[in-house]
Amino acid sequence: MSTHNDCQSCGLPLDKGGTYSDGRRSHSYCTRCYSGGRFTRPELTVSRMKELSAERLHARGYPLFLARFMVRNLHKLERWNVSRPLAQSRRI
Ligand SMILES: [Zn+2]
Repeated sequence: MSTHNDCQSCGLPLDKGGTYSDGRRSHSYCTRCYSGGRFTRPELTVSRMKELSAERLHARGYPLFLARFMVRNLHKLERWNVSRPLAQSRRI
């Protein structure tokens, strides 16, 4: 059983959750990653996402080496840990 407290795309704490196309809130993805039923940056690769998340953490005051450490397992999150893009395989 897993409860998601972190966004399953960028790994940062989930605030309100992004929105589905019908306006409901996602419990898996944050507002920055997911909006209106789609990923806001569908072109992002997991390695690029790691950079972005580390930069965001760094901007919040974490040393860069620590920020990079914190995002090291980002590729295991739901968005990246599937053989097909989630949006095409099942509802998230
Ligand atoms: Zn996110």
